Order: sequence, then structure tokens, then C-alpha cells
Amino acid sequence: MNTADRMKIPRQAMPEQEPQERSHNFQEVNLGLATEAARLEAERCLRCRNAKCVTGCPVGVNIPHFMEAVAEGDLNRAADILFESNVLPGITGRVCPQEIQCEAQCIRGKKSTSAAVGYLERFVADWARENRPDQLVPPPSTGKRVAVVGGGPAGLTCAGELAKKGHQVTVFEAMHKPGGVLVYGIPEFRLPKAIVDAEVDKLRRMGVRIVCDVVVGQTYTIRDLLDEEGFHAVFIANGAGLPIFQGIPGEQLKGVYSANEYLTRVNLMGAFRFPANDTPVIRAPQIAVVGGGNVAMDAVRTARRLGADPATLIYRRSREEMPARAEEVKHAEQEGVVFDMLCSPVEILGTEDGWVRAVRCQRMELGEPDASGRRSPVPIAGSEFEIPCQVFIEAIGTRANPLITQTTPELKTNKWGYIEIDANNMTSIPGVFAGGDIVRGAATVILAMGDGKRTAAAINTYLAK
Ligand SMILES: Cc1cc2nc3c(=O)[nH]c(=O)nc-3n(C[C@H](O)[C@H](O)[C@H](O)COP(=O)(O)OP(=O)(O)OC[C@H]3O[C@@H](n4cnc5c(N)ncnc54)[C@H](O)[C@@H]3O)c2cc1C
Repeated sequence: MNTADRMKIPRQAMPEQEPQERSHNFQEVNLGLATEAARLEAERCLRCRNAKCVTGCPVGVNIPHFMEAVAEGDLNRAADILFESNVLPGITGRVCPQEIQCEAQCIRGKKSTSAAVGYLERFVADWARENRPDQLVPPPSTGKRVAVVGGGPAGLTCAGELAKKGHQVTVFEAMHKPGGVLVYGIPEFRLPKAIVDAEVDKLRRMGVRIVCDVVVGQTYTIRDLLDEEGFHAVFIANGAGLPIFQGIPGEQLKGVYSANEYLTRVNLMGAFRFPANDTPVIRAPQIAVVGGGNVAMDAVRTARRLGADPATLIYRRSREEMPARAEEVKHAEQEGVVFDMLCSPVEILGTEDGWVRAVRCQRMELGEPDASGRRSPVPIAGSEFEIPCQVFIEAIGTRANPLITQTTPELKTNKWGYIEIDANNMTSIPGVFAGGDIVRGAATVILAMGDGKRTAAAINTYLAK
């Protein structure tokens, strides 16, 4: 097929559950492309020789070769290409912000719409999970032992890449389940937990040992892992999951949650099935969430599914400045989430017996761009008003949990508490590496995975010395 013909094929739409129906259930919103649609979509790729999309992918999937294999219907080859660079493709195909990564670099996207790399990644990963037997042949053991602290995307990717090299890897995870944000943060309706479990199980079959309910910094220190437990190297990937609060009056009221607590209760502990599951969550008729990122979007869409009407999203800038993935914003709107833009909470108001009854907000207007390049919100005097709600959720960001750095004082951190690393991703302690959100601050799944992959290569070199 020539380029002109490829350019004529329209971007294939992702089938979705109807908004009316899905705003009351936790099943996945996106349903996945059918085989013929996937083949057509793959034909849209222009097969550029100097493929910019590959540089836009933090784990460097060979996208043109992958697209070609899908277009030819050779899904086995497509899966091989994918798994060679990405150990968690069923996950990244669902949650990566492709529109600012690989798809942003797509040449055909400059003239019309980009090739839907993410849709095809998901399609091939799902096909492989259901249709092809494991082709894992563990390499001979090197006898070297590596401890990975944290079972999120950075830790799991690093573990998988090290296992491919024959190292013995043990992942220590604080929660009762591995996956990090993938299991406790991102809701079932965006990323079914069965997909995460299947990709984690694959790592186990590659020889990765995963030990849950171990809090490094308490159960073991980093020094214990090296000096007493006999690990030859350590990768710290404990994320940045400590919630930040706005510090406004009323945050002590009953009914105020951090988004992390709210989402952990619902996703990891299954509170949406309470009382069948032990953990409850407050179900209120009106819920307001403050924030503009993926976390806020997940919290408000969860609140909607738990019956809130309205479920209101409060954001201090306009829709254009929202950092959330474009698809999540669109889906939230379709599901009936109310967007209250250019508005910022100043106080949470309570009833006499200490429950949330409303949030007082102030209107904002956009001023000059700030350090982030986005126009900054400026309060409008005398514009205060109330939004009635019985649950108020704060999703304005997270920071590093100091547990590990406090118990390992020789680990250098920057002024925000994030771990400092050198060009080889090694920390100030020889043999101890770090990556993911604990180095970058809250970022994305694929950036964390890219860190895990690069660090695995650096650890491999370090162990060979
Ligand atoms: C609600 C939510 C939605 C998001 N949506 C998206 C999205 O759609 N797309 C996207 O690309 N990114 C998204 N992100 C961001 C993304 O999930 C993170 O950037 C990514 O998960 C970081 O990976 P990580 O491995 O560094 O950390 P994490 O995923 O946070 O994993 C760290 C792991 O370490 C464990 N841990 C912590 N402390 C210890 C300890 N002391 N001992 C042992 N284990 C420990 C934690 O329990 C956790 O399992 C979202 C984040 C949130 C919170």
C-alpha cells in the first residue's frame, strides 16, 4: 500500500461501553478493537524510516516493525516485538498518555490523526495473553541476587529485565498485592486488575520472586538487604504516594479524603462491594473532588459510579490546562461529571456534628504563564460561593514517603525528598539504584517503566564488574 492510500484510512474508533450504562458500573470503559479494525489501523502507519514515534516511547518499542506485523496479521511476531521492549504492554496500552508520547511524534499526525499505537499495543497484548502459550525460557542463573523495593511499574519492569539476564530477583512490596498505583490507584474501569495480575504472573514465571507485606525501612533497611540478606544490588522504586493536602480550614471534618485513600479503599480493598468486602467507603449523594490530573479524574469518575449526583470536579485553571489524559477528560464529561473550572476551594464547611456539608470556593481568572508554562490562576475578589457536598476529595498531588530515606541517612535526596541518582541511575550508596516516581516525583507509568528498564541495564553492567 502506498502512502497516499494509507493516508485515506480513517483512524479506527475504540468501541466503548455506553456512558449511561458505564457511569453505574466498574467494568472497563474501552472494549478493545476488533481484528479487522486493528489490521486497518496498523495499515495507517506510514512505516517511516526515521521513525520518530520510537523516540517518543520511553521503553523504545520498535513501532513501525510492530505495526507492519499487525497489518500482515502476524500477531505472534507483533507480540515478540512488543515483549522484547515492554514487559507490561497490556497495561501501557491502556493507561499511557500516547497523545503526548509516541503518537505525538507520529508524522501522519502532523497532517491528520496519528496512528493509534496504544490501541494496537492493547490489542496485541490481549491477543497474546489469551492465545499464545508462554514462550519463556529462563536463561542460566548468574548467581547474582538483586532486591527490588516496590512492586509498581518501575520495580516490576526492572525485575523482569533483570530476570531476562538470569539474575535472581526478589521484589519486596509493602502492600498485600504487587502493582503499585496500577492496583491501588487506577480504577478497574480503566485498567482491569485481571490484566495487571496476568502480567505480574508472567514475571513470576520468568523467575521473579515477589514478597508482599514487607515494608522496607521497617522490616529491613537498605543496609540490611545488602549486608545481612546478601543481595548484590538494590533498586529502590517505592513511588511517591504520600498525599499532599491544600492546608485549608475544615480538612479535619468527617468525609474529607485524600484521593489516594479514597481510591485505595475502592480499588485495592474493593469497597465498591462493601459489605461483601470488609472495607467501607462513604457513599454520599454529592461529592466534590479538587484537582486536574489523572488522579482527580479517577476519583471523580469513581464517585460518580458510587452514586454521587452531582460528582463535581473543581479545578483552578481552565480545561485546556488540565494535565489529565485527554481520553479521561472526555470520558468523565460523557459520564455526567460536572466540571467547575477556574475555581479553587478556600474552606470546607461542616455540620454541627463534624461532617462535611459544602466546600466554599473562589472564582479564578487566568493571568501570566508560570514556571510550568501554563497561565496561572489569579483569584477574583468577592467571588466566593459554596458547592454542597458530603464528601470532599483532595487530588492535588503526592510526594515522597520519607520512611526509606530516614532509615538510610547516607541516601542523598534533593530538597523535596526525592532520591538523587547519577547518570547510571545509582544513588549515593554503591550498588543501590533508584527510579520511577521516587526519583522524578509523580510522573507516568511508562516513564517509571523506562527508568526500570534503563536501571536494569545499569545493574547488569555493575554486577558484571
Ligand atoms: C490514581 C492515579 C492514576 C494515574 N493514572 C495514570 C495514567 O493513566 N497513566 C499514567 O501513565 N500514569 C498514571 N498515574 C501515574 C503513575 O501511576 C505513576 O507515575 C507510576 O505508577 C509510578 O510508578 P512507580 O513504580 O515509580 O511507583 P508506584 O506505582 O507508586 O509503586 C511503588 C510501589 O512501592 C511500594 N512501596 C512504597 N513504599 C514501600 C516500602 N517502604 N517498602 C516496600 N514497598 C514500598 C508501594 O506500595 C507501591 O506498590 C496515575 C497515578 C495515580 C495515583
